[in-house]
Formats: sequence, C-alpha cells, structure tokens
Amino acid sequence: MAYPFQLPQLGYAYDALEPHIDARTMEIHHSKHHAGYTNKLNAALEGHPDLHSHAAEDLLRNLGDLPEAIRTAVRNNGGGFVNHRLFWDILTPGGADAPAGDLGRAVDDGFGSFDGLKDKLAAAAAGQFGSGWGWLVVNSTGGLEVVATANQDSPYSAGMTPILGIDVWEHAYYLHYQNRRPDYIAAIWNVINWDRVAAHFAAAQS
Ligand code: MN
Repeated sequence: MAYPFQLPQLGYAYDALEPHIDARTMEIHHSKHHAGYTNKLNAALEGHPDLHSHAAEDLLRNLGDLPEAIRTAVRNNGGGFVNHRLFWDILTPGGADAPAGDLGRAVDDGFGSFDGLKDKLAAAAAGQFGSGWGWLVVNSTGGLEVVATANQDSPYSAGMTPILGIDVWEHAYYLHYQNRRPDYIAAIWNVINWDRVAAHFAAAQS
C-alpha cells in the first residue's frame, strides 16, 4: 500500500472495546489523530512523485535516504500513520486472551512466560517519558524484544518489525484514565488480538 495513503477502517465499532477503551477516545483517536497523520504524510509526499511507489514501512526503514526537507515530516506522520494502523489491527473486543502456537513458544523463550512479557512491556510503556509507544518487536536476528519509542518514532526506523504496539500518548487514554497511564496499560491486555499479533509475528519471520 503506497501513496496516497488511506485511513484504514476499523474492524469493530468505536464502542466495541469498552469499558477498557471508551468510544469517545476511539472516535477522536481514529477519525482525528490518525486521519491527521495520514493527511500530513500525503501532503509531505505530494511533491515527490519518485517516492509514491514506496510502502510507508519502507520510507520509515530508510529515513536517511529521504530529502531532508520532508524527512522529519515523514518520520512523524509516516510513523503516526503506520503505528496506528498496527494499533487498530491488534485490538479486538474478543478472541484469544494469550499468545499461542509459535508466538506463544517465542514469548516463553524470550520472556520466561506470558506474564514475563506483560510485565516487561507494561514497564516499557509506563516508563516512556512523555508521548510515545511501548512495543513488542521482532529484531534483526528474528528474536522477540520489548522496546519503547518517543513520539511517533517507528521501530522500522531502527531495523525492527513491530508486531504489537501500546500507544501511550495522552490522546490514547486521557478522557477515561486521566493521569493513570498504568491503569490504561493494565486494561489493554483485555482487548489485545493475539491472533493478529501472531500473524504479524509469522509475517516478520518470513
Ligand atoms: Mn495515538
């Protein structure tokens, strides 16, 4: 998927993730914030037709190859576009409540247990100072790793493939949780779509 980038539809209603993520937050987050990143990414690329065939992930993997005039705009808005597209995809109102199969084994190998992963990812997400993301990624050697990034910086720009992201910008939780970021992070485990995380894990390894 390349330029012009399209705001993806959610696979569920804005209120589907309640009470863990409230409908108003979802609506503003998707229709205003994510739409804004998408529009600004397209605006940055508009005058650069040579870049229009590239997937957004490829632009983020090779930020240093971009013209300096649009590098920061693509880093921020391309990151925002790609990060949120993954975020909506790995949320669900139902489904498996823990990783299984190859992903489950990799989680056990990498973190000792599912609880070990949850503790590490929650700490990374809660500990990210200011706006940013906590991530479960596949690193350059194919292993699972937990990292955090600031702002909309993407793991792709660091040579990693994100398979699960937790948005810890205040716009992701403030209406319902105010300053209680750890409560939002504790609740989000109820709505993670482990089937989709497993699909992203499989794709990252192939
Ligand atoms: Mn966000």
